[in-house]
Amino acid sequence: MSSGKARLLALLISILTLFFCPLALAAPDAPAQPADVIFSNARIYTVNPQQKWAEAIAIRGDRIAAVGTRKEVEALRGPATKVIDAGGRLLLPGFTDCHIHFMQGSLGLMHVDLNGTTTVAEIQKRIKVYADAHPKEPWILGMGWTYPTFAPSGLPNKKILDDVVLNRPVYLEAFDGHSAWANSKALVMAGIDRNTPDPPNGQIIRDANGDPTGALKEAAGELVGSKAPEPTRAERLRALRKGMRQANRAGLVRVHSAGGDFEYLDLYNELRNRGELTVRFYISYFLDPPGPTPDAIAKIEDARRAYRDDWIAGGAVKTMLDGVVEAHTAAMLAPYSDDPSQSGKLFWNPDKYRATVADLDARGLQVFTHAIGDKAVRLALDAYQSAAQTNHTHDARHRVEHIETVAADDISRFGKLGVIASMQPLHAYPDEDTLNIWAHNIGPERASRAWAWRSIEQKDGAIAFGSDWPVVTLNPWPGVETALTRQTDDGNPLGGFVPRERLSLEDTIQAYTLGAAFAGHREQSEGSLEAGKLADLILLDRDLFKIEPTEIGKTEVLMTVVGGKIVYQSPKWKKPPTGEKKP
Ligand SMILES: [Zn+2]
Repeated sequence: MSSGKARLLALLISILTLFFCPLALAAPDAPAQPADVIFSNARIYTVNPQQKWAEAIAIRGDRIAAVGTRKEVEALRGPATKVIDAGGRLLLPGFTDCHIHFMQGSLGLMHVDLNGTTTVAEIQKRIKVYADAHPKEPWILGMGWTYPTFAPSGLPNKKILDDVVLNRPVYLEAFDGHSAWANSKALVMAGIDRNTPDPPNGQIIRDANGDPTGALKEAAGELVGSKAPEPTRAERLRALRKGMRQANRAGLVRVHSAGGDFEYLDLYNELRNRGELTVRFYISYFLDPPGPTPDAIAKIEDARRAYRDDWIAGGAVKTMLDGVVEAHTAAMLAPYSDDPSQSGKLFWNPDKYRATVADLDARGLQVFTHAIGDKAVRLALDAYQSAAQTNHTHDARHRVEHIETVAADDISRFGKLGVIASMQPLHAYPDEDTLNIWAHNIGPERASRAWAWRSIEQKDGAIAFGSDWPVVTLNPWPGVETALTRQTDDGNPLGGFVPRERLSLEDTIQAYTLGAAFAGHREQSEGSLEAGKLADLILLDRDLFKIEPTEIGKTEVLMTVVGGKIVYQSPKWKKPPTGEKKP
């Protein structure tokens, strides 16, 4: 057995011993306190290696009281116990999303959603529907358009928007956040015309006459975006409520914020104080180079002290070492294959980054490092290794976020160093962008280690999965399918993209549950269905273990329970009559 797994197992055994067996309490001569809720007649995959499968689960308060056979759990049934017949459905631990930008994604839900659009007509329709429904909204904002919609140039034009909305500003970000699109009114309001110079790190796209077309690359988008009114506190709270509903509907019970939420911790706290939280939050501080000021350190330490319970926790720091492969900004050990003049560039001075990691590690803070190129991944591993040596820290569980490609020699270091590989399966979705741009840019040799989650896992590395919402959907089920198939919905490429990196269903579920809990130092209370742990669980419309992997992406959650409370129930969920199996 691997050392990582052995550690995990030892931990699980100690948890079991700690809470001891609640079934023993249910012996007839010493009746246990009855459960509040019992899910019976379920196919329960617990993710607990000691007891993988069960039929029933009892909940008392916000905790799991027992997991076992129907008969065993029935012993905890009292006169007031609510019994839910699961109709033989699959029940899993609730899912955690280990990489999310929750505030940003939630605000996006209040705006025009262009995700999934492939034609100009569809985009115009969605904008018109939104504009008509929100006549008092001063700006029309949105996100999610993609470049192929505007082939062959790949960039949109203001006229498309002017045709639908002329007298209000419209500002729409691309799905990846690297480009933006404004109508004429928005350009006027931002004071952008043919005489406006390009900002540093940005480009105002112009037509043959030199007039701005409405397409804005990188930092040029901010010239317009910064003119849009900031959302009010009330709007942010409304957005967060909407975001939580969306998350619960997808089966999420906890998220790890990778940026954009720390500044709003008081809003999350307000929702908690009102009893409105239905998602648990682990929130990192977003740190830019050249490193933290004393003031930033004070803020991080304050947040760690103030927020450290099951609902909101601080104590993590996120930073970015590089950019993305598509734009040649991911830092590579060797030049890009399609353009040998480029090899990306580190956002940090390496010595400064190493010193910062050592400082954060010494303070007991968990570090999330965005590293996409193999050079950035290596630097993150080096920094974590030397911090542990210098500080004599262990089990810090620092994380590398994304790891889109990795040097062959570095694969085994995740397991050896106890560094978490925090990855987003849907980023590996092998569409044209991945195969024709991403893989083309780095070439076949490095692309053979694309999103190498299976190789990292085989070398005892701990894997944690997430989405990076709003870059892609927060719905984890298309991610689960991609982790298994590494194919598009149309079955491309045949056999899968780098097929040896496909994961098993068990390991994929683990990466969204117990692995995710481990990545957030919460495996003692979350991540698997065991007596004593938090009662966070989901009931699904299909049995993932009995269907083709290609059916998994369409999975719907029928019910989500967080802390023993039903926080989401699908309209499709009809409680079957007791004792009768659902068809
Ligand atoms: Zn991110």
